[in-house]
Amino acid sequence: MCEINGERLLSRIQTLGRIGFQDKTGTTRLSYSPEYQEGRRLVEGWMREAGLQTQVDPVGNLTGRTPGKGPRLCIGSHLDTVPGGGMYDGAYGVLAGIECVQSLKEAGYASRRPLEVVGFIEEEGNVIGGTFGSKAFAGVPVDAAMEPNMAQHGLTPEQVSASRRRGQDYRCYLELHIEQGGTLEQEGLQIGIAHGIVGILRYRMRVEGFANHAGSTAMSLRDDALVKTCRMIPWLMDRVTETSPELVCTVGTLQVFPGAVNVIPGRVEFIVELRGPRMEVMDRLIQAFFQQFQAQGLTGEEYIRQSPTLCSPALIEESRRLCQALNFSSRDMFSGAGHDLINMAQITPSMLLFIPSRKGISHSIQEYSAPADLVRGARLLLELVKTLDQKEGAL
Ligand SMILES: [Zn+2]
Repeated sequence: MCEINGERLLSRIQTLGRIGFQDKTGTTRLSYSPEYQEGRRLVEGWMREAGLQTQVDPVGNLTGRTPGKGPRLCIGSHLDTVPGGGMYDGAYGVLAGIECVQSLKEAGYASRRPLEVVGFIEEEGNVIGGTFGSKAFAGVPVDAAMEPNMAQHGLTPEQVSASRRRGQDYRCYLELHIEQGGTLEQEGLQIGIAHGIVGILRYRMRVEGFANHAGSTAMSLRDDALVKTCRMIPWLMDRVTETSPELVCTVGTLQVFPGAVNVIPGRVEFIVELRGPRMEVMDRLIQAFFQQFQAQGLTGEEYIRQSPTLCSPALIEESRRLCQALNFSSRDMFSGAGHDLINMAQITPSMLLFIPSRKGISHSIQEYSAPADLVRGARLLLELVKTLDQKEGAL
């Protein structure tokens, strides 16, 4: 029987969470900062304690692996935080991975396949850009917008290329993370089995009206772009709500032109963001939106289209089976937030697992997951690692 050491895991989460912690603000461990380096050194020490051989790649990703040949079972997440973040987002997945390896070692379990734990740098994207570390790791091209930030931190394209791993060296990638939403807590469930990460669609929208004198133009003679927009947005929100609980829609920015108190708005520009597991459903909603309001001056164009990332069906199945065997209540879900898994899934079969976040809060000093939930997630991860270590065939 092999069990994880829950106390050790919880105490490591606390210890790492104190690096960069400030009262009333939270934990700030931005990539490449002194706090980040300090945190990574600490984690590297724990990796060695767990029997892992460690390495930091040219962009700063930390890996620890057990000796052995053949494709590795990889467990990972990120070690950076947002400014004023919590101590669980990212760190939990890395420390739970180390805990799995260490408890296997202590139980005298000799894994058939090499195990690797990764602490990715710069997932949050506050320094270089979102998931920069795992992009380099998986060989996913970095965005052009990241290049000036890379230069500022002395990072070269050569270092990015030199950090690239080969998919053939990996058997699978497992990421255990806090949910960062409130679904599990609300439904009283213990584990979220993610089928993937939602796709994102963003449109720049524009509504044309007619700018005119705000005093001398009668209400019946106006073509007010803002008034029209204010009817369009709730229509779209209602359609999204009716379509599927897995879909979300946000209008987070809106500009009124010419933007003067005494001029009737002649034009409004806003951005519609849709996130959901199926691109075609989102495409249909946008088309319906245009059809409904074209005659009222609505036009727009797509400028971001990111397809959903899918977890491996075999790994989803194993996770479900283990939850049943361990008597952990669970539900299937999609992740609304991005994770390093977006990049890792490009090179190896991947799986994302969630534990409850209190009130769904993250990226905040109030981010919290209960000790029992943290330990339960790590137990599931351990069983999954053992199962996959023994399992033959494709994942
Ligand atoms: Zn995260």
